[in-house]
Amino acid sequence: MKPLISVDNLYKEYSENLPEPVKVLQDLNVKVFRGEFVSLMGPSGSGKSTLLNLLGLLDSPTNGTITFQQREVSKLTHFEKARLRNSSFGFIFQGFNLLKKNSVLENVMLPLLYSKVTRDKAVDAAKNILYATGLESLTNRFPSQLSGGQQQRVAICRALVVQPQVVLADEPTGNLDSATAIQIMKILRDLNRDQGITIILVTHEKDIASYGSRLIQMRDGVIQKDDTLGIKER
Ligand code: ADP
Ligand code: MG
Repeated sequence: MKPLISVDNLYKEYSENLPEPVKVLQDLNVKVFRGEFVSLMGPSGSGKSTLLNLLGLLDSPTNGTITFQQREVSKLTHFEKARLRNSSFGFIFQGFNLLKKNSVLENVMLPLLYSKVTRDKAVDAAKNILYATGLESLTNRFPSQLSGGQQQRVAICRALVVQPQVVLADEPTGNLDSATAIQIMKILRDLNRDQGITIILVTHEKDIASYGSRLIQMRDGVIQKDDTLGIKER
């Protein structure tokens, strides 16, 4: 089976506005297969977010290659990369990152407005996903009128509206109480299990990481450990 994502000899350093470049990822190699649920752990500053951003085509490697569905990403034009990112990846962040002045419906529609979908179709798709996730009563609210857990559920809808191959989640439960965190993890687990969506999740917490099928531990920009996990029943 060919990997969905292959990372080969990946190096990343930051040099913009710095006296000396900062090496963040060093000769990192990893393959991710369709349908995996990968949890990524490691101390603060170990390069987890950097890796996630590179996987999601939000940033470019200093050296090395990332191949997504057999296409080497660095060979794509800026436009092709943006199109691939927008159609194939859904992003979820610790701070939810909803637009405060836009309604829930408008927030969920947003990724579709970057593609060629008409506004009417985007409205329909956003309404469908809000309905399917039981959030239809929140459709016309604004982010400030929602709890943290509700905001993250809206952000999950926004990630899913493009029907992504991969969901990338950077500490999605970091701002939530533990009961709400469990609800969010169950949603992600079900998406992986029932819809086969590949998930790559960064977390600080072992309990949260244990929802995954695989645990990768990073330190100082390299992978230290890579283990298969048993099924978690909660
Ligand atoms: P993690 O998510 O594991 O906490 P990050 O990937 O955010 O780690 O950061 C890894 C290292 O790269 C840190 O030392 C951080 O300070 C540095 N770093 C991250 N982004 C930038 C940037 N845009 N410019 C310079 N250094 C950065
Ligand atoms: Mg981080």
